[in-house]
Amino acid sequence: MPRRRFLRGIVFMGYVKGESPGQSSLFPPSLDELVPEDHPVRVIEAFVGALDLGELGFERAEAGVMGRPAYDPADLLKLYLYGYLNRVRSSRRLERECRRNVEVMWLLGKLAPDFKTIADFRRRNSQAFVQVCRAFVRFCAKAQLLGGELVAIDGSKFEAASSKRAVVTRRALAEESRRLEARIAQYLKSLDESDREEREEPINRQAVAAAIDELRARKADTDTAAQLLEELGDTQHVSGEPQARLMRTAHGKAVAYNVQSAVDAKHGLIVHHEVTNAGTDNAQLEPTAKAAQEALGGGPLSIVADAGYSNGTQFEACEQASLTPFVPLNRAPLHAGGAYFGTARFRYDASSDAYRCPAGKILALKQVNRGAMCRIYAARAEDCAACPIKSGCTGAKQRYIQRHWHEAAFERMQKRLALAPEMMSRRRSLAEHPFAQIKYDVMGDRGRMLLRNLRGARTEMALAVLARNLKRVIAILGTRNLVERLAAG
Ligand code: SF4
Repeated sequence: MPRRRFLRGIVFMGYVKGESPGQSSLFPPSLDELVPEDHPVRVIEAFVGALDLGELGFERAEAGVMGRPAYDPADLLKLYLYGYLNRVRSSRRLERECRRNVEVMWLLGKLAPDFKTIADFRRRNSQAFVQVCRAFVRFCAKAQLLGGELVAIDGSKFEAASSKRAVVTRRALAEESRRLEARIAQYLKSLDESDREEREEPINRQAVAAAIDELRARKADTDTAAQLLEELGDTQHVSGEPQARLMRTAHGKAVAYNVQSAVDAKHGLIVHHEVTNAGTDNAQLEPTAKAAQEALGGGPLSIVADAGYSNGTQFEACEQASLTPFVPLNRAPLHAGGAYFGTARFRYDASSDAYRCPAGKILALKQVNRGAMCRIYAARAEDCAACPIKSGCTGAKQRYIQRHWHEAAFERMQKRLALAPEMMSRRRSLAEHPFAQIKYDVMGDRGRMLLRNLRGARTEMALAVLARNLKRVIAILGTRNLVERLAAG
């Protein structure tokens, strides 16, 4: 009988009591009864069950006939998918989950691999994880979850496992070399002075010579490192993670990777992603758009991206591959000066490859600048000297106009954007949200990588993108529906 307490007429009935740990039960509940019918672990089970792991490139996809049995890659893959769906990425934490988490026990049949086995599996199957991520995109296409008409491309910086302290730059090495040089000079000067002067406390010449030798050795190392960087054509090196780069990120400069993603507009699913170490997005439009096109079946596709992707060469390459890009231009207006006529006042004639100015005079091709990828046109000095509107055109002897090699592609882009001004708001709503979900809902820790170098970062990102897409499809279809579709193949 629970002890009752009375307070001003209110009766307290005590607390809700759980079972004693030693309580035995006539029919103990099975693990299956403890995991609800619509729990996401059932999606993981159905998805992995439908995969051909050998075809995707997993090691030991076939059970061995000799020696100690290994863990089935399907079980370890399920464990990692569970981990990335629940912000548990480290192999040690996954090992703990195997021993205490009923959902993981259900998923793995109470198997409890040690952390080293778990970590080795992720390390050795990097490319296979990327293939699993693609297999889910193929399932989404088959399930008609992808529109295949418009794709938003965006890039985001993900911090690498290495910290900024591991970065060596050419500039820092040059500064260090100068600093060491100055210290060596200081020591030599003190030796000279001690030779000339009679000091009360003579300096320890042996100790000074040893210090100079050490500084010279350090300077030689610094100079060798600088020379090596120069020979490799690199401006920086991250010690222990040479493929990572110091980049500008949303949180200041950090050692990071630049992850590119292509998001299909129908349901916001990521159809392609790639981890790069490029500091900017400027060269990423064409490869990302073409890979997204391939993932969506190879048909014509509209692509929307921000001004960081503005690149005339890549605009043309996209157009030639039936990709229609919508990208704001990121270039300085080509005019002679703030107060002078802009290039829009000059008409280009492709047949004669020349411009006609507001006064009706011809600006002919004068020079080709391969470095800046442009052609330079000039009016005749005598035309400009006699021109009544010269003061509004140029302060120089004659007017020059620069034309980018891909100017026509820039002009077509400008027209496209003017006809579809809504594209930029669509880009924002489509492309930015998935990265926030990956960083905060899937990976945690702002998406900082645990594994090193491009191979490690690609493994982690494949798992993170797959987990994010799984979450999205569960939200769209519901767990039971998704499990049924996965089981139907
Ligand atoms: S200054 Fe020269 S280029 Fe400019 S409008 Fe006059 S003639 Fe044409």
